[in-house]
Amino acid sequence: MIDKNELLAKVSDTSTESEYFSPIPKGYVKGKTKYVIVMGTVMSGLGKGIFSSCLAKLMQDKGLKVTPIKLEGYLNIDSGTLNPFRHGEVFVLDDGMETDMDLGTYERMLDQNLSKDNFSTSGQIYRSILDKERHGDYLGRDVQMIPHVTGEVKYRLRTLAHKTQSDIVFVEIGGTVGDLENAFYIEAMRELAYEEGPNSCCFVALTYILEPKILGEQKSKAAQLGIKQLMQSGIQPDIIACRAANEVNEKARQKISVFSNVPISRVVSLADSASIYQIPAMLRECGMDFEVLRLLHIEDRIDLRKERQQWATWCDFTDKMGKEKYDITIGITGKYTSVRDSYASIINALEHSGIALGCRVKISWIDTSEITDKNVGEHLKDVDGIIVPGGFGTRGTEGKISCIKHARLNNIPFLGICLGFQMAVIEFARNVCGLKKANSTEIEPECTQAVIDILPEQKKIEKLGGNMRLGGHDIEIKTDSIAFKLFGHHETIRMRFRHRYEVDPKYIETLENGGLIFSGKAPNQPIMQILELSGHPYFMATQSHPCLTSRPMRPQPMFTGLVAAARSAKYPDQKIPQFLQAVEIACK
Ligand code: GLN
Repeated sequence: MIDKNELLAKVSDTSTESEYFSPIPKGYVKGKTKYVIVMGTVMSGLGKGIFSSCLAKLMQDKGLKVTPIKLEGYLNIDSGTLNPFRHGEVFVLDDGMETDMDLGTYERMLDQNLSKDNFSTSGQIYRSILDKERHGDYLGRDVQMIPHVTGEVKYRLRTLAHKTQSDIVFVEIGGTVGDLENAFYIEAMRELAYEEGPNSCCFVALTYILEPKILGEQKSKAAQLGIKQLMQSGIQPDIIACRAANEVNEKARQKISVFSNVPISRVVSLADSASIYQIPAMLRECGMDFEVLRLLHIEDRIDLRKERQQWATWCDFTDKMGKEKYDITIGITGKYTSVRDSYASIINALEHSGIALGCRVKISWIDTSEITDKNVGEHLKDVDGIIVPGGFGTRGTEGKISCIKHARLNNIPFLGICLGFQMAVIEFARNVCGLKKANSTEIEPECTQAVIDILPEQKKIEKLGGNMRLGGHDIEIKTDSIAFKLFGHHETIRMRFRHRYEVDPKYIETLENGGLIFSGKAPNQPIMQILELSGHPYFMATQSHPCLTSRPMRPQPMFTGLVAAARSAKYPDQKIPQFLQAVEIACK
C-alpha cells in the first residue's frame, strides 16, 4: 500500500478544473471499435448470451474481429463460489478465471478462447476502485458512482477493445434492466454511446412476449414496460428482439414498435428453438446481421467471400442435426440432476460428438445416492455408456463407485471427469489392488489409504476460493496408449482443470502394477491426469474437464471416444467404424 504522506501529497494535487472523468487507455482510437450492447427486460434467462454469441458469430463469419464481454451485477469477484444448482455450471477459462456459463456459449459459438478480460462482475469493479482510492489515484475527489464507477466500466470495455483490436465488442449485461445492481452498467453504456459518438453503439433489448393459456393471445404490455424503463435510463434501443414460445405476430410487434420508436423491421421475433445452433440462421433470416452493420456504419469492413465459405461450413454442420441414424443413451451420475444448466458443457460436448458420429444422444440422469453394488445393474440397464462427472462433497460417492465398478466389469463404455476420475482410482484401488480402505480425504478425512488426497502445494493455503488448481495445463501423453490415438498422436495436449485433490503419488506404483494405465501426466510433476484400462471397450477418465474445450465443429476426443464406443456396443451388427477410427474421422 502507498505511504500515507505520499498519499496526502498526491490528493492535495486536486484538479478542480473539469467535471469530465473518463479514463481512456493509452493508444485507444475512437471509432475503430464499435459496441453491440445486449440487455434484457421482463425477466432473466431469456438467452441474452445465446443471442449475443450467435449475432457475434454472424459478424465473425463476415471477417470482422469480434470479442464478447459479460458484465455481471453480483458482488462476487468470480463465479467460483456460486452454487451450480442456482446459477448453472462454473465455466473455467484457459487462464483460470472461473466464469458464468455464458462464456462457454461464446467460446463454443465463436470457437475462440476467452480470458479474464471477457468477464467482469460488480465485485471486480468495486475492488479495483477501492484499490485505486487507497492508492490516491482519484486526486482528492470524492469517489462516486458517476463518474468513477461508470468510468471504470467504460475503461474496461475500451481496454478490451484496444487489446483485442476488435471491430465489435459484444457487451452483455447480466440480469434485467431495473435491477439495482446493474444500474451503473446501464448508465455506463449511456455515457459510452454519448462519448463514442453516433453510430458507435448498437443497443439491443431482449424482451419477452407473454402468451397466457387462458387468453390464447400474445400480450406485449410487460415488454413495453421493460423497454420504457430502459428509455427512462436514457437509452434508445436500436433493435428489439422479442423472445416468445411461438412466433411473435405482427400486431404485438407493431405495438412495441410504436411504443419504443424502433422501426418494425428492427422489432424481430425470436421464438424458442430446439437447438442453439439453429439461431444464427434465424437471425440471418430476419436480416439482423445487416441491420447491425448499417447501424454501426461498418458495411465496408466485411468480406463477403469469407462469409459465403464460413456459412457453407456452418450449414454442413447444422444440416447433420436431426438426421442422425443412431440413438444411444448415456447415463450421467449427477448430484444436480434436476438442473440441466449445471452440466451445460457436458451436454454440449455430447451433442458435438453425437452430431459428428450420426448419433442422437439421449441423456439419462442417475441419482447415485440410492445405488449400491447390489442394485446397480438395475439402475444402469438401459444405458449404452456412463459419465461420472465432476463434483464436490460426499453425497452419492459410494453409488458412483458402484457404477464405475459395474461399467468396468461389464464392458460398459465409461468416461470419468475430475471427481469421476478420482472415483475410478478409488474403485480400482479397492477392488483390483486390494486396498480395501481406499478413499479420498475429501470424503473421509481420516482415511488410512488415501489414494486421493489434497494437492501437496494446496495443503499450505487451505481457504475457500482461490486455492484450486485452475485453468489450462499441458498434459504429456504416453505414446503407446489409447489416449495417444484419441488425441491424434499428439504427445502434449492441453485441457482445463478445477480441482484440489489428486492421486497421491505414493500409490501410483501399486495402481500401475494392478493394471491401471496413467496415460496422461503433468509435465515435470507427478500429477496423474488421464487414466485408461486396456482390454475394455472404453474405460477412460481424466482429472481435467474435457467438456470445457469441446466445440461444435471440433468435438472433444474423449467424448467422441465415449459416443463411438457406445454406438459400437449398441449397433454391433452395423458396419460402422470401430471407435478409434470413428474418432479419427470425427475429430480430424
Ligand atoms: N472435489 C474434487 C476436487 O476438488 C473434484 C473437483 C471437480 O470435480 N471439479 O479435487
